[in-house]
Order: sequence, then structure tokens, then C-alpha cells
Amino acid sequence: MAGRHFLHVPGPTNVPDRVLRAMHVPMEDHRSPVFPALTLPLFQRLKSLVRTETGEAFIFPSSGTGAWEAVLTNTLCAGDRVLSPRFGQFSHLWIDLAQRHGLDVVIQEEEWGIGASPQNIHDALAADRDHSIKAVMVVQNETATGVTSDIGAVRAAMDAAKHPALLFVDGVSSIASIDMRMDEWRVDGIVTGSQKGLMLPAGLGIAVMSRKAMEAMEAARTRDPLKRCYFDFLDMQKANATGYFPYTPSLPLLYGLREALDIIDEEGLDQVIARHRFLAEGVRRGVKQGWGLKLCAREPKWESDTVSAILVPEGVDGAAVIRRAFERYNLALGAGLSKVAGKLFRIGHLGDLNELMCLAALSGAEMAMRDVGIAVEPGSAVAVASEYYRSADKASSLKAAA
Ligand SMILES: *Cc1c(COP(=O)(O)O)cnc(C)c1O
Repeated sequence: MAGRHFLHVPGPTNVPDRVLRAMHVPMEDHRSPVFPALTLPLFQRLKSLVRTETGEAFIFPSSGTGAWEAVLTNTLCAGDRVLSPRFGQFSHLWIDLAQRHGLDVVIQEEEWGIGASPQNIHDALAADRDHSIKAVMVVQNETATGVTSDIGAVRAAMDAAKHPALLFVDGVSSIASIDMRMDEWRVDGIVTGSQKGLMLPAGLGIAVMSRKAMEAMEAARTRDPLKRCYFDFLDMQKANATGYFPYTPSLPLLYGLREALDIIDEEGLDQVIARHRFLAEGVRRGVKQGWGLKLCAREPKWESDTVSAILVPEGVDGAAVIRRAFERYNLALGAGLSKVAGKLFRIGHLGDLNELMCLAALSGAEMAMRDVGIAVEPGSAVAVASEYYRSADKASSLKAAA
């Protein structure tokens, strides 16, 4: 098909040409004396990305799922109890992973369309008088439903319950696009991957751990620790101290990461976050005011700035919209997963993108919807979103969001 492919799934995201060029490198010896000059700054810069001074960053050659596994298996023991709200496919999968490792997961079922309830977390922790719950696992941005949870409020709820559990957060579709304040919110473990906000191909699983989490790791090793080998933080820590890895790292991805972090620094992290909010707001207005459709997120406070999950009218298959968009308009939209399969389609709006890219996604989705019989008004979403992008005082809205 002629012309550019429009990639609007919420990961993998578009890789900037600069990053593609930075990854186009001949291989080199990962044990050479110059290798640490590439790697050592990366750990420091990943810490800045999640706003921590005291945390420790780990980079695994894996996807985000590997980092999910690393955070749990390094810090917890067989049979340990953990608490986790479930409100979408990604929170479901992380819980499933925990269970398959032998953790006892206390699951809080929340509606798909809302996020973690600080009140419910508070109540469960307050009732846990003997502190049998060792960790709380929360997905910051549930990519399946386009819902963002308030991690600061979760921390406040944990404090109010005076509970010492660790706080582990999945930031795979939020880091480098939605705010994460690791030190301020005292998050103990953050997980992300390379192919979403970081604008890289998949292949890096990133974890940032607090001091408290690293102490929990030491303590776990004196009990009945979960098994891990490839994902062992201690092996990593030992090699990383001098800028090396315990096994062969993905060299092109590390060069790509350096370039992606440069791009983020040039724009400024606060501006990157504000841009995501601004672009997302245009998409949301187009969906609601233009098309008259609803988001899966039940209230504005849950709406995600990196992905919008758009409910299709009753009796229409959301998958047909996605197929049509792909086959006819060269546009990739995100599918409805599991419980919401067929009920929605998703527009990913994260990473390297701008206003016109968002308008193209709305335009293509609108044509595909009309083609499969959804009677949205032609041009309606673009009319609303483009006026928002044009007339909203971008500079001031960016400042307000920052
Ligand atoms: C994409 C995603 C994952 C899975 O990450 P992989 O890199 O595909 O392993 C986990 N959690 C969330 C919230 C995601 O969006």
C-alpha cells in the first residue's frame, strides 16, 4: 500500500527516525573498556524519568512482562500474600503471573472502566492487622480500557492504613507519558518496557526499585525466596556497578534508549507529559462531542492520556472497525481484549506524535466506522479535535498540566 502506515495501537509506538538511525550500529564487544560510557548514564537517566534519587534501575533484555516477573520474584517468597485490584486485561495478566509463581493474591475486582480504588485498598490493608499482605500491585495505566489510576492516592491510602506493604506499579504504558513520582509517592518497584512511551522497539524490560524493596529482597533471601535466575537483581547489580551486564545486552536497543532519552530531555519531561494530555484531550473531545460515542473510562478522572478505548454501539463488532481500518486505510487501531473484545476499539496516543497524527487516526477510524455501518457524522471528530488543537492556548494548557 502506498504512503505511510499509521500505527495507532498503544504499543508498539512509532519509533522516531533519529532513534532508528541511532540503533543502526555495527555490533561491538559488550565487555570492552568503552562500553560502560554508554551504559552507566542510562541507569541514572531512567531514574530521572520516574523522578527518583534513591531508586535503582535495572534493564533486562525482555519485554515489560519480564520486568513484572523480576520485581515479584526478587522481593517475595513462596506463599506471600499480595493485594491487587483487577480492572482490565493487564492487571489480570500481572495477577495471573503472580499466582503462577505461587503468590497468594488477594484480588479486588473493580469494574472494567474504572481503576484502583484507594478506599478499597485502604480497607483491605486496615483489616490486615498482622500485616500478612507483603505488597500491593497496581497498574498505573490500564491499556486495555484506557483507564489511569491515581498512584499518589493509593500511597495516601496505604499510609492512612499505616500498613508497611511494598507498592509495586506497572508503568508500562505510562512511563515517559503520564507522570510518575517515584520518590514522592514512595513507590517501591516500577515496571516498564521499551516499546511504549520510550518510543523504541520491544526488547527492554525496565524495573526501578526503591531502597525499601532492595531491603525486602535481602530479607526474602533468608526465607523461602521465589526462584529466579535470568532475572536476578543481585547478578545484575554486581555487573551493572561497573557498567556491564551478566549476559549479552541488546546493543542497538541501548543506543536507541540513549537517543530516546535525549529526545525526551530536549522537549523536557514535563512538556512531554503535558503534550500527551493535550493530544489526548483533543481525541476525547472528538470521540464524545464529534461522534457522540462513549469511552470505556467511566468518568473523566479515569481517562488515560496515552490510550482511548472507544465503545462501539450495541450490535456492532468493534473488531470489524479495526479490520476495515487496517485493510482499507492502512491504519492500525488497538483491539478490545478479553472481556471487552468486540465492544470497543482503541486509539493509542503515546510516544512520538503530534496533532496531525491524532487527527489522521480519528479520520481513519471514522471512515472505517461508517464503512461497517456506524452512523457517525463525516468529519465530526476531526472538526471538534482540530478546533481544540487550534484554538486551545497550547502554551498555557501545557503549563497548567505540567
Ligand atoms: C504492554 C503492557 C504490558 C506488557 O508488556 P510487554 O512489553 O508486552 O511484555 C504490561 N502492562 C501494561 C499496562 C501494558 O500496556
